[in-house]
Amino acid sequence: MRHSNCFGNAMETTKNFRDPDLVKKIVGKLRENKRPIRIMEVCGTHTMAIGKWGLRKMLPESIELISGPGCPVCVTPASFIDALMAIESATVCVFGDLMRVPGSSGTLEDARSRGHDVRIVYSPMQALEIAKERETVFSAIGFETTIPGIAHTIETARKQGIDNFSALTSLKAIPLALNALLTSDEVRIDGFILPGHVCAVLGMEPFRFLPERFAVGGVITGFEPLDILCSIQRLIETRDAPEIANNYARVVSDNGNPHARAMIDHVLEPAEALWRGLGVIQDSGYVLRKEYQPFDAAIRYGIAITGTKENPGCRCGDVLKGIIKPDHCGLFATACTPANPIGPCMVSSEGSCAAYYRYERSYLPQAGEGVNGL
Ligand code: SF4
Repeated sequence: MRHSNCFGNAMETTKNFRDPDLVKKIVGKLRENKRPIRIMEVCGTHTMAIGKWGLRKMLPESIELISGPGCPVCVTPASFIDALMAIESATVCVFGDLMRVPGSSGTLEDARSRGHDVRIVYSPMQALEIAKERETVFSAIGFETTIPGIAHTIETARKQGIDNFSALTSLKAIPLALNALLTSDEVRIDGFILPGHVCAVLGMEPFRFLPERFAVGGVITGFEPLDILCSIQRLIETRDAPEIANNYARVVSDNGNPHARAMIDHVLEPAEALWRGLGVIQDSGYVLRKEYQPFDAAIRYGIAITGTKENPGCRCGDVLKGIIKPDHCGLFATACTPANPIGPCMVSSEGSCAAYYRYERSYLPQAGEGVNGL
């Protein structure tokens, strides 16, 4: 197991991680790269950080950064929004980003304006508190970062006998999505900036298949500018001998968090899941184990989340697979803006389209110069 940190002990505080001299030094090194490399950042927080710190424009043309399926709101299909809107006999609790994501007949914000009791919560436990007073459905979306907290909440509801609480789940496993991307051959990826938050739970092991099966490396990465730049440098250096490296050891232990994984395993089990863009992927989701099914809103309300009707003009699916960059959607920054979002990638605070709109429009290539010639 390798730990990568290109500036070693020089990076000890947040200030160090933004040190302009260190940034210049590593950017100088990166600009020496001549061999084209395409690197996918899997986490929406990385997408935002790359935009916010202007990292893309610092890099030479030979280093291309593409965004992947790392925004939980974005990969949740429209049919999940439809299902939440269909639950009118209970209070529906959601994280804020979900309110403006279009379903096939409007948004949860629209539903609330029609009198549907939809509330924004900041944690699943907040929804559980509401459930002590009224029938409540929590919209359980997320990756391994948030799943342990959701599992803990369901376990707490069971222990405390809070029968008014249930969860409609669309919980997803990141490693299986990366496997699906590399298996599909739709997009060429030479390396992954791996999601620090997810890896804090999973550790390194679930990503070993990347170099072993696909000869593609991955670096677990934090969210400061030098975290990201150092990881890019590591991916370039190890391209011909790909590995999984941990460049975020100040937060992520190689073994992740066994307690959090045990909580997931206690309450949930793997199941197939429907991803926007990627379709159905076997074992890439989590559903409630049999003994917890009384808290499964899909069972309680007789809901099946199957097919999905997406807006035909929205290319979020292609954006999430890294096939196109956001500005190569014909609706980007014209019909689709943060004020009038057409797809979830423009709604979410971690969405690629929102990141490009907010930070990167001024220097993006013109239409026709996108990745894969699209
Ligand atoms: Fe969808 Fe809007 Fe992004 Fe186009 S710009 S892919 S319509 S969210």
